[in-house]
Formats: sequence, structure tokens, C-alpha cells
Amino acid sequence: MRLRTLRDLEVEGKRVLTRVDYNVPLQDGRVADDTRIRATLPTIAALRKRGARLILCSHLGRPKGQVREDLRLAPVADRLSALLDIDVRYVRDITGDEARTMASQLGPGEVGLLENLRFDPREEQNDPEFARELASLAECYVNDAFGAAHRAHASTAGVAALLPSAAGLLMEREIHALTRVLEADEHPFVLILGGAKISDKIGVIENLSRRADTLLLGGGMANTFLKALGYEVGRSLAEEDRLDEARRLLSLAEQRGIEVVLPSDAVVAPELGAVEQARTVPIDGVGPDDAIFDIGPDTVARFSKVIGDAALVVWNGPMGVFEVPAFREGTRGIGQAVAACPGFTVVGGGDSAAAVEELGLADRIDHVSTGGGATLEFLEGKELPGVQLLMEENG
Ligand code: ADP
Ligand code: MG
Repeated sequence: MRLRTLRDLEVEGKRVLTRVDYNVPLQDGRVADDTRIRATLPTIAALRKRGARLILCSHLGRPKGQVREDLRLAPVADRLSALLDIDVRYVRDITGDEARTMASQLGPGEVGLLENLRFDPREEQNDPEFARELASLAECYVNDAFGAAHRAHASTAGVAALLPSAAGLLMEREIHALTRVLEADEHPFVLILGGAKISDKIGVIENLSRRADTLLLGGGMANTFLKALGYEVGRSLAEEDRLDEARRLLSLAEQRGIEVVLPSDAVVAPELGAVEQARTVPIDGVGPDDAIFDIGPDTVARFSKVIGDAALVVWNGPMGVFEVPAFREGTRGIGQAVAACPGFTVVGGGDSAAAVEELGLADRIDHVSTGGGATLEFLEGKELPGVQLLMEENG
């Protein structure tokens, strides 16, 4: 199966409905972080250069099928106009008269933006009539919203079946990098997992442990594994109801011949706010009144050595509560090791991507995935509806 890309689509002079992910944080009526907008610029530039008439569409937040003044896309249109240095034609309408007029008046290379798709309840219902209304605005369809590809909505799934369609450049890059992971035959393959809970990551562990050689576990979820193995974890975040699950995953890894490495030391404190009491202890030295908030320096050194020898690294989940500077060093250390690794490196997950951006390491990582839930579902081996429809058999 092959992904249809912009090269497969005749867009010259055509009206191209382009689904993007402009679900950006807003503050005081302005875009607070335009990373997701900038990520779509290559696709927009490529389409404009070919004389396409772009009709961009996105969701923003969770308006649940109602018009919400604070979730209009006007601030996005302003930011996009500034980035492109053109006047983006934003309409406060999705498929009505205003939208149709805008679409019909766009000239080659011009860009329009529809209102927040989720103001219409039919978007999330993948309503066929709504998909037809969207499709009628354009002659072809490009999906560049990888972050929304795990949802079968009208703008991600319904419309793709109605028009000649293809993946945008951002979508294409995501699929290629993540497919390389799923089909990995590069060894050593090191999988690094952290973050809050194992319950969010069970599918990823089950699927990627088929191919990985080493599994490095940190973050809050390592606490559940440690507890399952009989270690004292005190007041740490740990999932009491997942201890059996943790033991099952450990024996699955053993059956598959994967080495699982847990933290050997930790940064602990009585509570998150008590940073002045933070101290590093060996992993068997955690007291009943301690909570683990980061991996310690010995763990960073041991993990870094494994990462340095890897041909392929996949990292999801911060190693500690990186939002608090006192508990950021573990995530920084692992981030630096991943950045320095000569193998192919992929970071996925909303918080993980934010962490490597904040630490200034993103440029040195081969692929920082823009999808949160979509990335995890892809790595679990699930078929994403938004992606499936862009695939072509016998291509
Ligand atoms: P991602 O979004 O990259 O998939 P997660 O959402 O699973 O990552 O996890 C990120 C969260 O995990 C962060 O908010 C971080 O503070 C939290 N976290 C990491 N380690 C710990 C820990 N030891 N105790 C509590 N929370 C933790
Ligand atoms: Mg998260």
C-alpha cells in the first residue's frame, strides 16, 4: 500500500480543500504558540506555487457542535496572514453562502480559511451530507492534519472518499518516519517510555516490543513497574490497579527476548512543591514518605550508554515531571543522549514533543512527531482512518 502524495494530485488552478491541524493554544485572542501553523507552511507553499486555490479548514478546541466566540479561527487567520505575508480570506462560515462565495472567488495561489469545523455537530459525526457540502467547495482534497488522523470525522475521513485526495507534506513526513519504526529492521532498536501512566502506553509496548531490543522505562510509569517488582515507591504516582498488567508486560518482554531496564536511582521529594527537599536516592532507598519525580543521574548515564549504541530510537514520555525545573534533568539528559545518537531518532507524544522543543533539542532529532494521540495509535499498529483513505492499493 502506498500513500498518495501531492505529486499524485493535479492541483494546477484547482480549488483544493486542505485539512490542517490549527488546534493551537490561544491567549487574549491571539495565537500563543504557532508551531502547528508553521508546520503547514511547506504544504501551503507547494500548493500555491502550483497555482492551486487553497481552502484551509481545521478544528480548534472542543466546541461540541456549537458556535463559541472564543474558539473562532480569526486569530489563526491573522497569524497565518502574517507568516505568509498575504491576506488570508477568513470566513465565519463553514459550508454556507459565505464559504461558497469565498471559495468561488479565490484566485490561483490565494488562500482562504473556513471557520472552526467543530462548530457544526456534523463534523465529529462524520455526517455524509456535511462531507458532501465540504467536498462541493473544492475539486480536490489534501490532508495535512496528522494530529487529527485518528478521528473518523467528516473533514478527515468523509470528504477524502468524495474527492481526488492526497497527503500533504507534513502528513507524508509523519507516515514515512513512523512507518520506518513500525517496519523496523534496524538494530539495536531502543524504545524509551516514560510519562504518567502505563495504562496510556500498553498498546505501544505490546506492539513495538515485537521489534525492539531494549526497553528503557522512566517517568511515572516506571513506578508502577517498580512497585510490581516489590520496590517501595512511597507516595509516588503509581497505578495500583495495573500491577498485574505491569508483571504481564514484563514477562511478555522476557518471552520476546527484550531487555527491560528500570531506573537505578531517582530524585525524590515529599511532594511536588517541596523542591528544596529534593534529593537523589538509589532505587532501593525510596522511603514511604518520598515520591519519585525524576530519574537520577546514574539512570541517565546507564540509559544514555544504551541510546548511544542504538541504530533506531523511539522515545515517548518524559522521564520525570519536567514542567518543574528541579525534576527536569532526567528528561534533559535523555533528550541530549537521543539528540547525540547517530541512529534514526523519533520522539512522539504531546508532552514529549513539547519537552524536546523547550530543551532546544528538537533540531537534532530526526523526527519529532506532531501528533499526540494519533502518533501513539499509529505506533500501536492501529489503522488511522484519516490515513487509510489516502492509501492506494497496488500503487
Ligand atoms: P506524552 O504526552 O509525551 O505521551 P504523557 O502524557 O504520557 O507523555 O506524560 C507526561 C506527563 O507525565 C508530564 O505531565 C509529567 O509531569 C508526567 N510525569 C512524568 N514523570 C512523572 C513522575 N515521576 N511522577 C508524576 N508525573 C510524572
Ligand atoms: Mg501527554
